[in-house]
Amino acid sequence: MLSRPNTMPTPPHCAFPGCGEWADHPHHVTYDPEIIRPLCLAHHEQITMLNGQQARKYRTVLSNRFRWWIWYQWIDGKLKPRRTRKALEWTEAWTPRPEVYFEQEQAEPKVPVSTTPIVKRKTRGRDRANANHSGRRESPHAK
Ligand SMILES: [Zn+2]
Repeated sequence: MLSRPNTMPTPPHCAFPGCGEWADHPHHVTYDPEIIRPLCLAHHEQITMLNGQQARKYRTVLSNRFRWWIWYQWIDGKLKPRRTRKALEWTEAWTPRPEVYFEQEQAEPKVPVSTTPIVKRKTRGRDRANANHSGRRESPHAK
């Protein structure tokens, strides 16, 4: 192995073939033993999505062998992640990023966004029905 003079610390390049990006995302191919490959953000996301998708597909915790298999399938271009919502959630957990980064293919009103202020409903006519939380204007036992 050639050892370069280490005067100028340059970040490694992304390990994905053909990707010329700087790799500022060390990716754990396996955790035990700790084997790390340098990746750029985009490729780190891809492999992380793949790992997640494969784990869900087989309902298993990824073994080291499995993780390497995924790694090489991915490097060879045989395995590509689908940018599903699940996959995005998977990576959202570990990297904060602008929302514009991924376009939402289908608008999924999962989280209700309340743009209208909650108007206090007039329950005047229904005091009887809502008696338990509209104040105890009259005791139910009062006669
Ligand atoms: Zn890359």
